[in-house]
Amino acid sequence: MSQPRALLADVVPFSWVDGPGNRFAVFFQGCNLDCLACHNPHTMPQLTGRAREVTVDELVADVRRVAPFLSGVTVSGGEATLQASFVAAFFQTLHDDPATAALTRYVDSNGCADAATWDMLLPVTDGVMLDLKALDCETHLALTHHSNAPVLMSLHHLAAAGKLAEVRLLIVPGYNDGEDALRDTGDYLAEHAPGVPVRIIGFRPHGVRAAARDIPEPTTEDREHYAEWVASAVGAELVSIV
Ligand code: SF4
Repeated sequence: MSQPRALLADVVPFSWVDGPGNRFAVFFQGCNLDCLACHNPHTMPQLTGRAREVTVDELVADVRRVAPFLSGVTVSGGEATLQASFVAAFFQTLHDDPATAALTRYVDSNGCADAATWDMLLPVTDGVMLDLKALDCETHLALTHHSNAPVLMSLHHLAAAGKLAEVRLLIVPGYNDGEDALRDTGDYLAEHAPGVPVRIIGFRPHGVRAAARDIPEPTTEDREHYAEWVASAVGAELVSIV
């Protein structure tokens, strides 16, 4: 029987920024959001001549070569859950292979996946790092051209399953950086994802499309304010700043 195949935008064998510890990061090609602040817009199209096609066995072989130096594997994108059947087979093979079984398996997601997709992935997934671009739906539409309803459903589903490892808030000045909005977001997370770490990520113009190049980069002081407003509800010990 033929193996599932995936389209990848890139692979980073050693990454310290895609989850806990040193990780093998796999960036899938294709995304179902259209974020103004995306700094990897080349990963958005699902069909592009730049993507590399791989089988599960080929990708697992790449992980095996560096497994002794890794804490785990993270699938990211683009949006990895758009190729969920492949991710499930990849994670299952990593789990079953003695050379890679000890590695943790994380998904970095924009949250636009349905419950059935998560139910396929969660049995072989240790944790999900979820982006919440905005709690307010209108702001989410302005930032991503999509409703945040599926993201909030994913947040609830993952929290209930005990697999929500982190919520990531990308703060884009002029859009989602208001004090009231961030305090509301903190309240929401304290209620619906209690105890889950929150990462505050300040917008950076590097690599973004022309439409976002004039958005200012938040200062260190701005980032500290964002963190303080969210932390007022979730607790300072759970909030980190990037
Ligand atoms: S979800 Fe991520 S990869 Fe997709 S468009 Fe938004 S920032 Fe880019």
